[in-house]
Amino acid sequence: QAKREGKAGYQFFSQEMNQVNMRRVALENGMRQGLARGEFYLYFQPQWDLKTLRLTGAEALLRWHSAEFGLVGPDEFIPIAESCGFIFDLGDLVLREACLHAVQWDSFFPGLKVAVNISGRQFRQPDFLETMACVIKETGVRPSSLELEFTESVIMERAEKNIHALQALKRMGVKLSIDDFGTGYSSLNYLKHFPIDAIKIDRSFIAELVTDSDDAAIAEAIISMAHSLKLKVIAEGVENDAQLDFLVDRCCDEAQGFYFAPPMAGEDFTGYVKRFSEPEDQSKPLSVAG
Ligand code: C2E
Ligand code: MG
Ligand code: MG
Ligand code: MG
Repeated sequence: QAKREGKAGYQFFSQEMNQVNMRRVALENGMRQGLARGEFYLYFQPQWDLKTLRLTGAEALLRWHSAEFGLVGPDEFIPIAESCGFIFDLGDLVLREACLHAVQWDSFFPGLKVAVNISGRQFRQPDFLETMACVIKETGVRPSSLELEFTESVIMERAEKNIHALQALKRMGVKLSIDDFGTGYSSLNYLKHFPIDAIKIDRSFIAELVTDSDDAAIAEAIISMAHSLKLKVIAEGVENDAQLDFLVDRCCDEAQGFYFAPPMAGEDFTGYVKRFSEPEDQSKPLSVAG
């Protein structure tokens, strides 16, 4: 009896595994065609300065709208692209598109920055630095308006090698940040060796900020530690007033999240930027009512 149940359970399990694998293989095969068809594009999520209450920039987030599979999220397709090597093509697209947008927005909002997620495999590619320099040159982007996001684990593995690569990126003039901070190694001692500009508190700590005293303590500790290392802190996943109040109270520098705006298409973010850019001269006079 028990044996039969066990066997049925095993069959059910392997069937499920099979389905997961089949989707994985199908997505892997569909990606190349998807890229050729222009199904991959960037969304942009605004980031706000919590002290000056000004828009500072946006994080570029990749989307895949597949004719075959519908909307596929990056949490699903990025790991697949990483394992099959397709991330090199995708990463190039993301870098170029992000830079081209940054150039466009810089023309009416000087200094607006665009943050780009860099995957581990992309970063470890021997010609990553070369590609970076090339994209900067070809797109004419102001390097200081570009921020590259790396996760903790990507930074920490091969730490010695990475320090040199990160220093080279700094010399190019781009900004560097650590994404999803608090979920990886969290080796605070190591942090001081890396030439980074900012830390992004992972949204899992922000989610329960007001109801979970442990998460509140962690977020608070990250902010004060980052500030004593002269790093900027960005909170991700801010969804409500209470979370925002907490972060403003603790002098968190910047935030992004649904509270401000969800990620949006490039042309929508252009409208958003125009809405929040302050006219510095008389070329854009405020209309007077009445
Ligand atoms: P991430 O870099 O930590 O990006 C933040 C994620 O949080 C995004 O999910 C964003 O849509 C979501 N988010 C923003 N505000 C809120 C909020 O208030 N509440 C909640 N619940 N979520 C919020 P998304 O766009 O699905 O991206 C997921 C992950 O996929 C990213 O996490 C990043 O690790 C990866 N990813 C996205 N685009 C790229 C890319 O171009 N290259 C690489 N290598 N990875 C990417
Ligand atoms: Mg990110
Ligand atoms: Mg993150
Ligand atoms: Mg993430």
